[in-house]
Amino acid sequence: AVPLLQVSGLSVAYSGRGGPPVQAVRDVDLEIVEGETVGLVGESGCGKSTLGRAILRITEPTAGSIKLLGLELTSLRGRLLRRARADLQMVFQDPFSSLNPRRRIADIIAEPLLRGRGASRAEAAETVAGLLELVGLDRDAGRRRPHEFSGGQRQRIGIARALAPSPRFIVADEPVSALDVSIQAQVVNLLADLAQERGLTMVFISHDLGVVRHLADRVAVMYLGEIIELASRDTFFAGPAHPYSEALLSAVPTPERRPDRERIVLAGELPDPAYPPPGCLFHTRCQYAIPRCRSEPPLLRQIQRGRMVRCHLPLVPEHAPAAT
Ligand code: SF4
Ligand code: MG
Repeated sequence: AVPLLQVSGLSVAYSGRGGPPVQAVRDVDLEIVEGETVGLVGESGCGKSTLGRAILRITEPTAGSIKLLGLELTSLRGRLLRRARADLQMVFQDPFSSLNPRRRIADIIAEPLLRGRGASRAEAAETVAGLLELVGLDRDAGRRRPHEFSGGQRQRIGIARALAPSPRFIVADEPVSALDVSIQAQVVNLLADLAQERGLTMVFISHDLGVVRHLADRVAVMYLGEIIELASRDTFFAGPAHPYSEALLSAVPTPERRPDRERIVLAGELPDPAYPPPGCLFHTRCQYAIPRCRSEPPLLRQIQRGRMVRCHLPLVPEHAPAAT
């Protein structure tokens, strides 16, 4: 089957202030099939959000290709781009900043439907009523304005707005990390239910591996703008292959984690992305680094069925049967 979304060689560079350009996203290849949720994880500043925004063309990529069902998105302009945008929606981290405070909720939710799909007012009103119910809000919520809602409710509004044009693909960028812990699970469960019931295809960006474990079919780990591991959820949580993934996972409690495994505290700081280290980008913090790691950048390669890793010395035996 043709993947719903095919990202290849995607890079985003920012001009550095006086310094060299900053490569926020480096040469990312990612294929996502219909109905799949990919959890995109990594420390803040690793390029997760930039990758998500570049896929939606909220941020312009500097190189690479993004295909939605075979249609190249990077070359679309004007009306064609607006139309394609209806198929690609984003749920933002801070729902308040993405909701216009002066507008009524019904108009906020209807906007991508009216603009991107050319729906009539009557069609939009009906869809909005259905969406409010779907995300667990009262019908009369549509008449109110964003400040009248709590953070969790605003995120429900953000989700309803993203779903309004029946997009083919959604990027949710840390959708619960600005919410109270007590509300996070409700919103995560709402997204999980919607993914199931509506067959949503989603990239779910999070620094919280517990949430990703709950939602994702596959996990992609980023470090300094690169994808360094990509694996099915069960394979990944059964035992990461990249030393950086191992460190990330050691910080969260998981049922699989053996009690003898200690939390790995990474040495050193995240390098300045304007001055990335040579060789493996992770070598300055890797406890397994060998001389080769300091000069030769590892390629992202498949070491097991359904598992890609960018490391000269992966932590799982190559070509061993995968956990699933
Ligand atoms: Fe560590 Fe070397 Fe693997 Fe990089 S390539 S993660 S430095 S072992
Ligand atoms: Mg971010």
